[in-house]
Amino acid sequence: MENLEKLLEYQKIDIELRKVLDEIERSDDGKKMEQARTEFNNAKVKVTETEKAAENIVAFYNNALAYYEECLKKIDEIAVKMAAAEDLGEQRELASQLEKLRSKLAEIEKNLAERADRTDKVIMSYLDGQDRGKKMRSLYNSLKERFAQLKNSKEPLINELRAKMAAIEKDIPATLMAQYKAITAEHLYPAFVRAREAERNRYRCFCGLELSQKAKSELLDKGSCRCETCRRLIYLDK
Ligand SMILES: [Zn+2]
Repeated sequence: MENLEKLLEYQKIDIELRKVLDEIERSDDGKKMEQARTEFNNAKVKVTETEKAAENIVAFYNNALAYYEECLKKIDEIAVKMAAAEDLGEQRELASQLEKLRSKLAEIEKNLAERADRTDKVIMSYLDGQDRGKKMRSLYNSLKERFAQLKNSKEPLINELRAKMAAIEKDIPATLMAQYKAITAEHLYPAFVRAREAERNRYRCFCGLELSQKAKSELLDKGSCRCETCRRLIYLDK
């Protein structure tokens, strides 16, 4: 095969490059980073929600307080009127108004007490969300930094290997290169393999399969054939 030597040289460097790229890929904590980002966003949503809930609670307290004060003022006014009232009917009417106001006050107090529980929960949830958000953000940042460091440290080597490959590629026939790239596109490394002579006149592929009669005669005729199982290119050692 024409220029097979060059291609095998190219393949050797390509495998070296593949190893470096695999190492980077393996250490890519992409999933963990995604998880940290999702959790951070969830925590942010929780904080925003609880902030809104807290705003509602504050508004509720303010309203309740204003209403409560209004009732107290009315009670004072009625008390003054009662002291001045001489008519029994008027006194009874004022007493009934007073009674209504008192029961309203009791109702407001009850509502406020019930809300206290919910307020505590909202505050806890808010603090929890904030805390988790901070943790997730720092985890995300440290993972990102670690990955970037590794990538940067490997960059000179990757560039060097790629430059070597580009220089060799010029001497490799286009059809041979196309064959090589088609096989490696399926992540089959090495793509070009030497025929292994299992026994006398019997050959195996890199994947372990013994060549069929048809493949073997092609190998012996042309010096190369394709494996019928893994589709690697098998060449005969000269
Ligand atoms: Zn094979």
